[in-house]
Amino acid sequence: MPKRESLHERPVPGDGVPRLELAEWRARYGVVAGVTTRGTPVDPFDLGLSSGRPVGKVLDQWAAFRAAEPGFPLTTLGRQVHGTEVAWHEGGRGWLILDGVDGHATGSAGVLMTVTVADCTPVYLLDPVQGGLALLHAGWRGASSRILERGIRLLTGRTGANVEEIVMHCGIGICGDCYEVGYEVFEAFGLPVPVGGKGPLDIRGQLVRQGQELGIGRITTSDWCSGHHGDLFHSHRRSRGVDGRMIAYLGRPLATR
Ligand SMILES: [Zn+2]
Repeated sequence: MPKRESLHERPVPGDGVPRLELAEWRARYGVVAGVTTRGTPVDPFDLGLSSGRPVGKVLDQWAAFRAAEPGFPLTTLGRQVHGTEVAWHEGGRGWLILDGVDGHATGSAGVLMTVTVADCTPVYLLDPVQGGLALLHAGWRGASSRILERGIRLLTGRTGANVEEIVMHCGIGICGDCYEVGYEVFEAFGLPVPVGGKGPLDIRGQLVRQGQELGIGRITTSDWCSGHHGDLFHSHRRSRGVDGRMIAYLGRPLATR
């Protein structure tokens, strides 16, 4: 059983789109895997589609984000519902927004998959052998409803991936120390309810456990916490609901030349 291994997202040198990425995945697997950050107080970067910010500003920032990662004719996003539906993408052109979808998967280059996050964990899945990729939005509801298993089954079913060859990274989300939850969350994960009916819960730790049970070959987790590192990340919990949204992204770019 793989142990939990740490993997640190690193800042992408300044191109106007504030973000961190897994440099190791780019170098080793030829994919881009990262997350946008909150920008600065003067120039906040917020890619949420229901924030109340001017539409033009939000779309400009989306356009800047898409331009900053070349080699992707198609960008996908879901209107997330904390569910377990994972969409399969074959390719296309433009910006696809699907209703009711919390995860994306593809076997094709040129598809930049995105999920919105602000404490929920983005889960990145990669099969270095068959080339399949999946990106999941996993808050406590999606994680406890086993969206991870849905994503894995989609990769194995569509591409013939072997689970033990899949690499999994639990990206930037809120840590247990910053995330006190009620009894219903512990019950959803089949965990004992703490005395008093509430307590801290590390969602990434639960995802790691699920990944181990499913037989995933290598599992890493981010060192960053959206709550602890409020200068860098939007956090729904820490801001009591007023922060914006970041975009986690994953895809294999087309060869650009
Ligand atoms: Zn924290």
